[in-house]
Amino acid sequence: MNMYFQDFKMTENNKPDLEKIAKEQHAIKLAQKEKESNYYPEKLEEFGLKTINRFVDFHPDPSKYMKLGITFGHKGMEPVAEAMANNEPWAVVSGLNPSGPLHMGHKAVFDELLWMQKNGADVFIPITNDESYVVGKTSSLAESRRIAIEQVIPSIIAMGFKAEKTKIFIDSDYMDIYNVAMDLSPHLTLNKAFGVFGFDKSEQGENPGTMFYRSGVQLAQILLPQYEEFGGPKPTLIPVGIDQHPYIQLSREVARKKGFIPPAELDLKFMWGLDGKGKMSASREESAIFLTDSPEVAKKKLKKSYTGGNPVADYQRQHGGIPEICPIYTLRTYHFESDNNVGESCSSGEILCGNCKNEAVEQTLDYLSDHQAKLPEARKRINEYILTTPIRSIFK
Ligand code: SF4
Repeated sequence: MNMYFQDFKMTENNKPDLEKIAKEQHAIKLAQKEKESNYYPEKLEEFGLKTINRFVDFHPDPSKYMKLGITFGHKGMEPVAEAMANNEPWAVVSGLNPSGPLHMGHKAVFDELLWMQKNGADVFIPITNDESYVVGKTSSLAESRRIAIEQVIPSIIAMGFKAEKTKIFIDSDYMDIYNVAMDLSPHLTLNKAFGVFGFDKSEQGENPGTMFYRSGVQLAQILLPQYEEFGGPKPTLIPVGIDQHPYIQLSREVARKKGFIPPAELDLKFMWGLDGKGKMSASREESAIFLTDSPEVAKKKLKKSYTGGNPVADYQRQHGGIPEICPIYTLRTYHFESDNNVGESCSSGEILCGNCKNEAVEQTLDYLSDHQAKLPEARKRINEYILTTPIRSIFK
């Protein structure tokens, strides 16, 4: 039996109606595409964000993600663009939870940060092991700290960040971040925090650590580059998924009260998980290619991946696939292609999923092999990247 039909019951006397199956599958995936294509424009409007089209026209060499519309929206990016154009200091802050090794979805964000560093940014990377612990993603602070040191930080270094323009800190090691949180807390009310972070006082699940983290420490991470120790107020860019807009909005309000420049928000589309059930996430192992995956494991996940293709090959040749909802398409376009050739060949029916997956396997294994070869050297260089600067200015 053709593997494509494994989900359909088929007997000698009751053969499946291929045309019907093909049409049904195509219609389901088209509806999914329609829903997805409306999502981001609706959010831009709802949150009053702008597209980055003007920035892309204005910059002599915008990032690949910007050109492809993967980085697509912003709020308040004008001071950053000006700093870039005038070679003035600016910073970018992008943190992550160390609850497991990095995956290709993280790599997409770090690729964008590398472009920003090449364009003059000082890159701040908070490793939020306190959040991993308080929200229950790891069993102890020690465990999330161990993951940060053994897996996350070496992978970040191996991606090619310059030590002199990169400041990585593990929250629980860099205690100054909690002093900065205290310094900012008078500029925030509990009512405001409840509203923005969606805390529901009737919920049993939330603990006070979650509230302290989100309303205090997260703001401290975003505004840290504007403290005197790092040269004072400066344009700062925060790349986020669009669902994090309210957090940035809040940090802009607090920045104004503190005499800082309101941080700018830059919105990136998420990378589809291989299971087709949402964004690539460490919490659904089969959805993600981890940067530490063995070739066998990565290949198996890619071969099993959901796609935007059709179970009937002839139908796909005739009507094309639907790359906009395909994790293989996003993987290849985000990481390995310099243009949208995969999307065009897919939509026209020129390539089918089997071949497309084979190419994705080849590209991914090449990348993983190269990345993993760099890890031993990266582990030796961790201290060059770790931020230890004490924040004394808050005691003046
Ligand atoms: S041909 Fe490639 S991009 Fe198109 S649906 Fe199939 S796997 Fe996805």
